[in-house]
Amino acid sequence: MGLQQSDALDVERIREDFPILEREVGDGRPLVYLDNGATTQTPDRVVDAISEYYRTYNANVHRGIHQLSQEASIAYEEAHDAVADFVGADGREEIVFTKNTTEAENLVAYSWGLNELGPGDEVVLTEMEHHSSFVTWQQIAERAGADVKYIPVTDEGTLDMDAAADLVTDDTAMVSAVHVSNTLGTVNPARELADLAHDHDAYVFLDGAQAVPTRPVDVAAIDADFYAFSAHKMAGPTGIGALYGKEEILEEMEPYLYGGGMIRKVSFDETTWNDLPWKFEAGTPSIAQAVGFAEAVEYLEDIGMESVKRHEEHLAAYALDRMAEFDDIEVYGPDDPTDRGGLVSFNLDGVHAHDLASITNDHGVAIRAGDHCTQPLHDKLGVAATARASFYVYNTTDEIDVLLDAMDDARELFA
Ligand code: PMP
Repeated sequence: MGLQQSDALDVERIREDFPILEREVGDGRPLVYLDNGATTQTPDRVVDAISEYYRTYNANVHRGIHQLSQEASIAYEEAHDAVADFVGADGREEIVFTKNTTEAENLVAYSWGLNELGPGDEVVLTEMEHHSSFVTWQQIAERAGADVKYIPVTDEGTLDMDAAADLVTDDTAMVSAVHVSNTLGTVNPARELADLAHDHDAYVFLDGAQAVPTRPVDVAAIDADFYAFSAHKMAGPTGIGALYGKEEILEEMEPYLYGGGMIRKVSFDETTWNDLPWKFEAGTPSIAQAVGFAEAVEYLEDIGMESVKRHEEHLAAYALDRMAEFDDIEVYGPDDPTDRGGLVSFNLDGVHAHDLASITNDHGVAIRAGDHCTQPLHDKLGVAATARASFYVYNTTDEIDVLLDAMDDARELFA
């Protein structure tokens, strides 16, 4: 297969970093991995960093006296610095390692929301929230006696910011919005949402699970109060993610989990908390994963996030163009590829998304089918499920052609 290069990245070179891409699947088809919105593949460099940790300095952190613990502690702490740098945070105090984006949402909802929200307060979400934010805030608001409102999605798949201006009021305590939609691909106006929240003395939480992997993100420029993302969607390992929080806000918040590592002093009468970010990292953390997360961040920095973004847009534009050739393909989300991340959700007339994904699988093409953890948005779109192709640094336009060819097969089978 000849590789189509975008002008942004040397994809052929990058593919060498990911041996999994040489796999054959099904009946001997080359793997075409277009499920990056769910999880990305892991370059050798990251696997090697994790392996080196286990082979040479595996030990518990929290500054044990012996040498291995010292080395592991330094690597674990410096991983916070690397991630902080990557998203423009002020320092490690503002980066809490969590299990994933979902846990970051829960941390803030439980720690801040359950303590601070009450009757009369409002949480403003969007209709395109992932369940990780949607369900979390819905449930915590209910427990706290607060109300939830939703910023509508327009027919073009963008947020209705005029409606948002009316929905966010002095009763709003939190605006929680997805930065890049994992279903529509929409890139939401993060700074505008932050300004709107701040004009009413509310906080803003941005779900960056699809944004941080695919474009330069600067939490300070956005003026986010909280910002969450997962390593496994950005060339890193599973089991670790990050919550960015402004230091002064995290300082004021109650711990989320109690136990070892997060304390300063424990007595029979009272306990005091450790410094940030350790106050929010109870128990033995994901040390190997943190080492892998830092390596992934450095890998992406070496490629350059502007280039990653251009490549994503290039692939999205190509996929949108190719799909527009067919009347029986319905694409969801904004038409303009520069308004969206590198993913396309679609349906093929007369073929259920699950059947389509099964047929593309026979061609070696991994796509996702279902509601992508956005059931309320699917209700709004009037469909139970969509198919989704999502791209990363190693994908090519040729691979999108393989997907389109597989869809031809689906047409024939279901005609
Ligand atoms: N938000 C968005 C926009 C996502 O795409 C995802 C993953 N599908 C999540 C949150 C949840 O991420 P995780 O499963 O890593 O917690």
